[in-house]
Amino acid sequence: MPDLELNLKQLHLPTVGAHYREYAEEARREELSYEEYLGGLVNQEIEHRRDTRTERWLRESRLPLEKSLETFDRSRLPTKVRAAVSTLIEGAFLGRTENILAFGNPGSGKTHLLAGVAQELIHRGHRILFQSCQLLVQDLLAAKQELALGKALKSLRRYEALIIDDIGYVQQDRAEMEVLFALLADRYENRSVMITSNLPFSKWESIFKDPMTAAAAIDRLVHHSIILELNLPSYRLEAAKLDQQGGDE
Ligand code: ADP
Ligand code: MG
Repeated sequence: MPDLELNLKQLHLPTVGAHYREYAEEARREELSYEEYLGGLVNQEIEHRRDTRTERWLRESRLPLEKSLETFDRSRLPTKVRAAVSTLIEGAFLGRTENILAFGNPGSGKTHLLAGVAQELIHRGHRILFQSCQLLVQDLLAAKQELALGKALKSLRRYEALIIDDIGYVQQDRAEMEVLFALLADRYENRSVMITSNLPFSKWESIFKDPMTAAAAIDRLVHHSIILELNLPSYRLEAAKLDQQGGDE
């Protein structure tokens, strides 16, 4: 039916176009009702769209995809954090524009945990971007120099959550700190951020250069937030120790 195929194409229903014949045969064989036939086809179209969107969002997310919850040993987590993770992957915090703040020493699993949660959320239909704080700040600074900071911040708003990995890891100069602050202010009560940091709040003055800016940044972040404290020994260090013990035997 050339007309039908043309029309389906015009309506952007490629999956219906690809499957309507085979579904029709099946419907005749199984004596399905018209409603069942149409319902089945439409379902197929929707599922296909969801799958391609998820793939696209995973690709653009810049997430380290090998750091998933499947490869993360949750039994290592403190009980409170473990319970929080089960809730986080349901994604309701995004609707409430709450922030996730993961603290802990290097190697405690902050990046892996947030990346894993984010990957799960993308599968559930949320759009998330992962960036190291350092790269993000460089991008924003470049945008600012081109008088396009506002535009850059706006384009980040398409992501329900922005992972800012390793905030405070590299000392920033004043201009860098200012764009970081502008980003946090832009997202406040508007979009979520998910942050990892080796530095407790008490040391954030060194990130934001002066106590007032640090206090203002912390205030915005914490106002609606879920704090995950990973006071754990380094996973890398423990794995290395286990390796050595294994080697001694
Ligand atoms: P952090 O961001 O806190 O410095 P990472 O998330 O980068 O730590 O973790 C360090 C390394 O240890 C990574 O290779 C990570 O995959 C691994 N790792 C940490 N915690 C776990 C865990 N609970 N289960 C599996 N791998 C882990
Ligand atoms: Mg990390």
